[in-house]
Amino acid sequence: MGIAGVLRPLLRRVADCARWPTCSEKGGWPTTMSTDSFPFTVGDFECMALSDGVFAYPPQSFFANAPKDRLEQALRDHRIQPGPMSVPWTCLFVNTGQHRVLVDTGGGPGSPPSAGNLLRNLQAEGIEAASVDRVILTHGHPDHIGGNTDAEGWLAFPNARYVMWEEEWQFWTGEPNLSALEVDEGFKQIMLTLARANLPPIQGQLELIDRETEIVPGIRAIPAPGHTLGHTALAVCSGKDEFLYLADAVLHPIHLQAPGWYPAFDLMREEAETTRRGLLRRAAADRALVLFSHFPFPGLGHVFKMEDTWQWQPIGS
Ligand SMILES: [Zn+2]
Repeated sequence: MGIAGVLRPLLRRVADCARWPTCSEKGGWPTTMSTDSFPFTVGDFECMALSDGVFAYPPQSFFANAPKDRLEQALRDHRIQPGPMSVPWTCLFVNTGQHRVLVDTGGGPGSPPSAGNLLRNLQAEGIEAASVDRVILTHGHPDHIGGNTDAEGWLAFPNARYVMWEEEWQFWTGEPNLSALEVDEGFKQIMLTLARANLPPIQGQLELIDRETEIVPGIRAIPAPGHTLGHTALAVCSGKDEFLYLADAVLHPIHLQAPGWYPAFDLMREEAETTRRGLLRRAAADRALVLFSHFPFPGLGHVFKMEDTWQWQPIGS
């Protein structure tokens, strides 16, 4: 695949996580983290971060323009061992009471062996795929749409309406130009192949959006272009609680201190940095709970302003 090394996911469930802690409850987070699922609440909404697995990336692919010595220092500061970096693929389930919403579908049957576990992890939590009535796709990358279909090519969430940003849909279902990406041809082929396999089948149940809009009551799409053309973030609000699902707008906690170090996967670097800074500013100002798809699982925490940059405070730490 052109990317060295894959890691087996740690498949250990922790019984402590069975209850639903509230994000406004001080000290209410489980002290032992499950590596597969993490329940939390936002107002009246029951939410769950769900692991699809992990994948090992060369650190340079996340920080393509970082000076070597500064990157090595940043990796040491974050206690990241030299060599391929194990990165989670995390999805989200939200039960609003009215709707059962899945955000992103993981890598699905086309995943490397270390990922593609979302369906199994949903089932382990008693969430039947057929009970999901909305699937929101933040963007068309393989780790976010690969689970739209099952191994036989049938829709994995047969009763759901699938929601995606219109430009994003058109980009991936047209003739995507990936020349701006600094990734090898093999990886581009994986992107194209999985988009072709996983987007056309949802067409009959597709809802396209082209502006900031409420997808279901309490879940609002926020345009967050740059990582891809129509990359979409979400604001989830219930009662006084606000939760931001920022997907791949920020790929790694190191980007909070170095928001200009762009990932090789960003299609439009300048827009991506503007989006990154804008969403970090908003997350810090709102003191919102935030989830990033590729931060250490469950990817949940808060963003704090630190002079010109930001700092990540994961929950449970
Ligand atoms: Zn991703």
